[in-house]
Amino acid sequence: MLRLRASVTYSGVFVDLDGTVWRGRDPIPGAADAVRALRERGVPLVFVTNNTGVRRDTFHARLESLGISPDAGEVVTAAWATAEYLAEYRPNASVHVMGQDVVADELTAAGLTVSETGQADVVVVGYDERVSMDRLTGALRAFGPGTDFVATNRDSTTPHEDGPMPGAGAFVAAVEEMTGHDPLVVGKPSTRMADVAADILGVPLDECLMVGDNLHTDVLMGDRAGIDTALVLTGVSDRADVETTDITPTHVLDSIADLPSLF
Ligand SMILES: [Mg+2]
Repeated sequence: MLRLRASVTYSGVFVDLDGTVWRGRDPIPGAADAVRALRERGVPLVFVTNNTGVRRDTFHARLESLGISPDAGEVVTAAWATAEYLAEYRPNASVHVMGQDVVADELTAAGLTVSETGQADVVVVGYDERVSMDRLTGALRAFGPGTDFVATNRDSTTPHEDGPMPGAGAFVAAVEEMTGHDPLVVGKPSTRMADVAADILGVPLDECLMVGDNLHTDVLMGDRAGIDTALVLTGVSDRADVETTDITPTHVLDSIADLPSLF
């Protein structure tokens, strides 16, 4: 059979959201067309985000408002992936949460018991808009002998239109320092998110491509999972960062609009 062009093909694509499909409230130009082009080529897609403040169905609605149909791809959030992980490995655990309400909602939806006071079997920490001395103290006192420490993710900062804000990692580090425990991290760059995404697509992980704007989460997760990566320059990391870190993306694209060129 005649091959018209030599190209790398991937059986599935994982796509980050913030800084990749949109930036704050603004869609990245060409994002919806790029997703549509991939679907037309029969490439399945799943959105993978460390965001823990938004429910998955809300993300579906937001994608739809940008012209990306709900069946374009499932959304994996670090909050949902954390709940799925605990439902699988600690189904009867009581869980103390220092994080957004969505994290507690996802845990409850997955059948776990969220406890607000006293010691817990598991302490989950993530980005927490309401961080306070009370909430830090609550997290500290939730630890007892044998309590597991799970972090939804540990992004250092969160992008914001007025400038960077503290990320989940700042709060995780505080609890780590207070307790001396290392957290198990669920979100990117943990490969747990890649495994969940590949399972949803039903394709072998090593045939997938990870697309995102952050070298230290998106591209590093791809590296750790042993898969190809595409850095888009519409968010956190720029070309200078590529040169000054030892994390090397397989592809560097100006934006997600250029993604179909890889297929
Ligand atoms: Mg991003």
